[in-house]
Amino acid sequence: MSSSKLHIFNSLNGKKEEFIPINPPYVGMYVCGPTVYSDAHLGNIRTFLTFDIVFRYLTHLGYKVRYVRNITDVGHLVDDADEGEDKIEKRARLEKTEPMEIVQKYTNGFHQTTEIFNLLPPSIEPTATGHIIEQIEMIQKIIDNGLAYIENGSVYFDVKKYAEKHNYGELSGRKIDELLEQTRDNLEGGNEKRFFADFAIWKKASESTIMKWNSPWGIGVPGWHLECSVMSTKYLGKEFDIHGGGMDLKFPHHECEIAQSVGADGIAPVKYWMHGNMLTVNGAKMSKSLGNSFLPNELINGDHPLLEKGYSPMTIRFFFLQAHYRSTVDFSNEALQASEKGHHRLMKAIENINNIKTSPSSSVKVDELVEKCNQSMNDDFNTPVTIANLFEGVKMINLLNENKQTISDADLTKLKSHFHHYVFNILGLKHESENNNNDLVDNLMNVIIDIRKNSKDKKDYATADFIRDELNKIHISIKDSHEGSTWTYEN
Ligand code: AMP
Ligand code: ZN
Repeated sequence: MSSSKLHIFNSLNGKKEEFIPINPPYVGMYVCGPTVYSDAHLGNIRTFLTFDIVFRYLTHLGYKVRYVRNITDVGHLVDDADEGEDKIEKRARLEKTEPMEIVQKYTNGFHQTTEIFNLLPPSIEPTATGHIIEQIEMIQKIIDNGLAYIENGSVYFDVKKYAEKHNYGELSGRKIDELLEQTRDNLEGGNEKRFFADFAIWKKASESTIMKWNSPWGIGVPGWHLECSVMSTKYLGKEFDIHGGGMDLKFPHHECEIAQSVGADGIAPVKYWMHGNMLTVNGAKMSKSLGNSFLPNELINGDHPLLEKGYSPMTIRFFFLQAHYRSTVDFSNEALQASEKGHHRLMKAIENINNIKTSPSSSVKVDELVEKCNQSMNDDFNTPVTIANLFEGVKMINLLNENKQTISDADLTKLKSHFHHYVFNILGLKHESENNNNDLVDNLMNVIIDIRKNSKDKKDYATADFIRDELNKIHISIKDSHEGSTWTYEN
């Protein structure tokens, strides 16, 4: 066990603080999950990977972590504010289907993607639509506490009233006075809100809205920020250890979550707020609306104008881990190609541990290496330094294999288990064949086409036809020409 202790950068005060759980050995962690109206893009994956590492490392430290990551399946409006259409309903309209079919389709897709990148499933994955009753109860509590008002079938959180006693803006650093200034400019035009920063916790539904529920205030939909307060309280308690999400959620989403929980229960809900930084493309945040996003599959297949080639899921995982979660990462082919080599070298070194011969004593310092890795992870989950430390170990492994250093039996066992544990369990990397699946299929098809050509050359037309017919059965068609044979796959 390391002599250093885990420190986490807390967005609440901008300081690295020693991690002391509220109720050890239990740790509660809530992470804002995807809005399932389309496929998760690579930026989303970066954020979920950050908290996958936190989950894995806390588990490694011996904590019993309850990791809650929600699915947003209602209430997230197109313009991220309180106006406009629900993102899921809009998609359902475009795809000419039911909102819940959209939810199912993209939830399934999200799960497949998380598996591809080796993200561990959360302990609980609650949905907003599954917690409407609890959301109505929380709204009622906030109204009863005098911190929300009803306007034309909608309920708004009263930020100005809240700010009389509490610090609205404590997480994001926004100043209520500045928001007051903006109010004068933004409240023209008959807005139902009394104050610009007020936000809907219940929104009256229009006739055409499909997903809507009955409530004491009429038929409507819960506000987007509310579900996270409700589901984190329900599964982790009024006070829990870690709340995570991307940096872009700090304001207004997380600021509003704090206000709602304090407004309902009078208790600040979260001890450590953690925010992952953005994946950018040429310096701009990757986002669907900017049109600069790509899907994990496009990246894996190299199927996008920005991509020089395809990159495997573990190359991408390694690429993300080479940056600290609080730094931005800019997409680049060059960096991904370097990560591909780095991941490959690390995996090769793990294989090479098996070839090391032991000696009566060690000249290498395995304990020091283990300690350095623990220290870097304890320093706010510093994965790039941890990877650099592991590469010191790779050097060690190579020198041992060249008989330039010596290692005892006991130290070799320790070195092996350290590498396996850190690389596979904590960083969550996996062995991958050098070829990705596409290359593998290409190579296999070349072999089959060669065998068929051989049969034809030997006038064994029965075998050549048999190969062609069998491939046809699995939708692969072979075309023969003077230059040779080519194949296509029709799904
Ligand atoms: P959404 O599905 O839009 O609610 O986003 C899911 C998660 O992905 C949130 O925690 C966002 O903060 C995060 N996210 C969105 N865009 C990016 C990006 N470009 N880089 C990193 N994380 C992102
Ligand atoms: Zn949330």
